[in-house]
Amino acid sequence: MHLPKNDSEPWTGYTMPLSVPDPSPRQRKVLIVGAGIAGVASALALAKELGPHEPNFQVILYERHDILSTSGGAINLTPVAQRHLDRLGVLQELDRQGPDGGADVDAIELFSSRSGRSLGSIDFTDGHGNGVNGYKGRRVMRIVLSLAMLAVLERQPNIKIVYGKKVKGVSELNDQTILHFEDQTSAAGDLVLGCDGVHSALRTHYVEPGRPSEYTGLAFIQTTIDTPPPPPPASNRTSLSRPSSSTSASGSTHNSTKSSRTTRSVSTNSLTSSDTLSSAGQTQTPPTMHTPPFATSGLALSRHGDLLGSYCDRNHATLFLAAIVQIKETLLPGYRLDGHHISDPRHRVAIHTALQKEIHSRFAGSGIPWIRDVANLKTNWMLYPVYQVRPGGRWWKGRVILLGDAAHAMPPRDESAAYALDDSIMFCRTLAHNRDEPLSTIFTKYEALRRGPVEEAFSAAGRMWETHRDMGFLEGRWKEWTMPYVLWKNRAARNAAWRFDAYES
Ligand SMILES: Cc1cc2nc3c(=O)[nH]c(=O)nc-3n(C[C@H](O)[C@H](O)[C@H](O)COP(=O)(O)OP(=O)(O)OC[C@H]3O[C@@H](n4cnc5c(N)ncnc54)[C@H](O)[C@@H]3O)c2cc1C
Repeated sequence: MHLPKNDSEPWTGYTMPLSVPDPSPRQRKVLIVGAGIAGVASALALAKELGPHEPNFQVILYERHDILSTSGGAINLTPVAQRHLDRLGVLQELDRQGPDGGADVDAIELFSSRSGRSLGSIDFTDGHGNGVNGYKGRRVMRIVLSLAMLAVLERQPNIKIVYGKKVKGVSELNDQTILHFEDQTSAAGDLVLGCDGVHSALRTHYVEPGRPSEYTGLAFIQTTIDTPPPPPPASNRTSLSRPSSSTSASGSTHNSTKSSRTTRSVSTNSLTSSDTLSSAGQTQTPPTMHTPPFATSGLALSRHGDLLGSYCDRNHATLFLAAIVQIKETLLPGYRLDGHHISDPRHRVAIHTALQKEIHSRFAGSGIPWIRDVANLKTNWMLYPVYQVRPGGRWWKGRVILLGDAAHAMPPRDESAAYALDDSIMFCRTLAHNRDEPLSTIFTKYEALRRGPVEEAFSAAGRMWETHRDMGFLEGRWKEWTMPYVLWKNRAARNAAWRFDAYES
């Protein structure tokens, strides 16, 4: 096509393409269950993908909690997760949080807990400081990420979020799906997205009741603390063995030269260390900690489980610690802060103490001073058992589709959140492109795109996950010796996953 050479009226005779596609008057009502990563990302992706075609669409998110949960510690966002969040407008919001918006992670450095020997690294950069497609890794507190996602959500006119709504049942009536909540209320919608996590009520009450979540046998014992200052030089130790500053709520001091902050927008621990310590009558938490053997994030491997340490803010003022360890399922109830026990301080103290002993028994013999400090840290350790949903099951039924962990929770490999984001974006794009098709056709097209990569990721995550289990002496040495090779072998697949673009499919 050639444009006419008439400078005064260059477009004469041509029909300009519409910048906005012809909008449909349809009033589609989408109900999303769960305001976690998949739920909020789906709402944002609907606004972006479906909004231009169906401006009258309406989204209501139902979240079982009355308020946003502050638990869960910190999460690592891979380059692909960051790119997706950027496209949804969340990264900008995260950056607006200042230092709390997360620590840039160039690499997760792996080393032997026994000897301190470096075993390689999972690199988010190319060696010259450049990220994958411009994005590195980022470790950020989960609550900070949730707040950033919700801030973007609040700017969307067609999206509403309702807290304190726990789904306990689903039924179909005529052309609608009805959600039944624990408070005896209900809601009807044209389409339901089940983003309610690994124990999904939509999966177990409706889509596939025979597919419950299962415990992987491994759990995270984790905490978040203010970064303690390093110990004083040996010559000063006698006189300065306890700095005069007080121990903070999260078990560290406020006199750190490197990391002290005057204000904190986010409380990282819901319980205080002083509760734990005074009630337990234990020794005070050591107020100092040796310098960690990593720049931002590191994973120490041992035959009794692995220990992850990572800063989770730009100033390195907050340190996230997580031991990934094998815990028998029968022991879980004794380690969990659930139900009525949560308000009983003695019960809380007993749990924190039991978890601290678990950490101590596994890591106190380390050859690295920083790990021994962590092993001796008396603080509010919390247990997060890791569950999975085996692949191969149904993802949809009627007008309900499962996304994120509800469909395919896999052992975390630092990128499960990226899979939840991929699901949200790819489903919303499939819906928008096929908006006049029946839902069953849309669901089938989405599943055809998604199932292969998800099942492959599940197997890879499962293989890595096995390496965290308790093992004998020889197997432990083998794990150390072979880790550099395993990292090298998986490098190409990791990079391909980080380059994946849900917008191109
Ligand atoms: C210990 C641990 C550490 C992890 N670390 C990482 C990491 O570093 N990097 C990474 O990428 N991934 C990590 N993951 C995995 C990641 O957290 C999940 O893949 C991701 O959160 C999945 O998002 P989701 O929205 O599907 O589910 P969720 O984040 O679990 O959100 C589900 C939401 O649904 C709500 N809900 C549940 N049931 C109901 C109901 N009946 N009615 C209404 N609402 C309901 C919940 O309250 C919640 O808000 C980790 C997982 C675990 C267990």
